[in-house]
Amino acid sequence: MDFSKPDNARKINRLKVLSELRKGECSRAELSRRLGINKVSIGEMVQDMVREGLVIEGGREATGAGRPGTLVSVKSTGGRVFAFDVRARSVSVSVSDTLGRILRFERYPRDGHEEENIHHAVARMSAGDGVRIYGSALVPSECGLPESLFPAPLIRIPRAIAEAEAEIASAGKLDDCLFISWSDTFDAAICSSGSLRHLPYLAHMKAQKDGECTCGGRGCLEAAASGRVLMERTGATSARDLARNSGYASAIKEAMRPLAMALSEAVQALSASSVMITGDISQLPDQAYAYLQGLVSSLLPPGREVPVYRSLSGEKGTREGAAAAALNELFYRTDLLRTLAVIENPSCGL
Ligand SMILES: [Zn+2]
Repeated sequence: MDFSKPDNARKINRLKVLSELRKGECSRAELSRRLGINKVSIGEMVQDMVREGLVIEGGREATGAGRPGTLVSVKSTGGRVFAFDVRARSVSVSVSDTLGRILRFERYPRDGHEEENIHHAVARMSAGDGVRIYGSALVPSECGLPESLFPAPLIRIPRAIAEAEAEIASAGKLDDCLFISWSDTFDAAICSSGSLRHLPYLAHMKAQKDGECTCGGRGCLEAAASGRVLMERTGATSARDLARNSGYASAIKEAMRPLAMALSEAVQALSASSVMITGDISQLPDQAYAYLQGLVSSLLPPGREVPVYRSLSGEKGTREGAAAAALNELFYRTDLLRTLAVIENPSCGL
């Protein structure tokens, strides 16, 4: 895209307005001040966007001298994105508004009828006058279901990235945090300089002496402590069950040894300053976290302290994060704006 062309510059400015309003409602004068775009242009853009159903005008500004400005906000009911979370034993479908709030959520077993169920759920959740569907997010990237089931365009998101997005959305910036998704399988991501990077190999780091892994290797973290392996070992019916039912506490405790081994090596290699456990098995009691923290600290060099946190979003993190990632890419175009910010002001990307 040639950003110097007036038409493209206008598109970019509209995206900047939307991204600013995503943070909260705001007057035209304030938008003009924050974005450095003159008031006349802001006024014209807002007028167009109101007409197109992207933003709405609401109340009056509470403070400031002079005539109070009308507040403008994102019209959250104007569009929706879907998020699909595909597991070994279930598929969940959720739909969110353009502010990332989940409007509906349904879960189906993988009993041979899941394609039909997804098809009907999408039809039900798309219904409504003038509602625009901006696309879908699929977690994880590969799932074996036909792509035609999911409203296009489709973006594929690794589980750890989706869950990390949800944590960042609720806790703010989490720089140098290593995210470990502990569910049926392991997945990982790290946040550095405001961007998330997927770490697919982390599940296959060596964490114990032996144990055959699905990857063909031996002693992988995945083979030692993944939800799938723990379910086989204990008879638990789901990864959520492993975290919720105290009867599995000793199996979880045992799994924390290889997990701590992998975590301590990963934080050293990646220079991470904190760890957050996300996913189905993250919602463990405080004493389980205290035990894991003790193990990790004992494996790190003296003086190196790396706190291990429990996910704030819990089980709903996957769908909330997938919705946020879909909106970033399909509606707010956050990556495009970030790239542009670096071009306009090279020092801010460094
Ligand atoms: Zn492996």
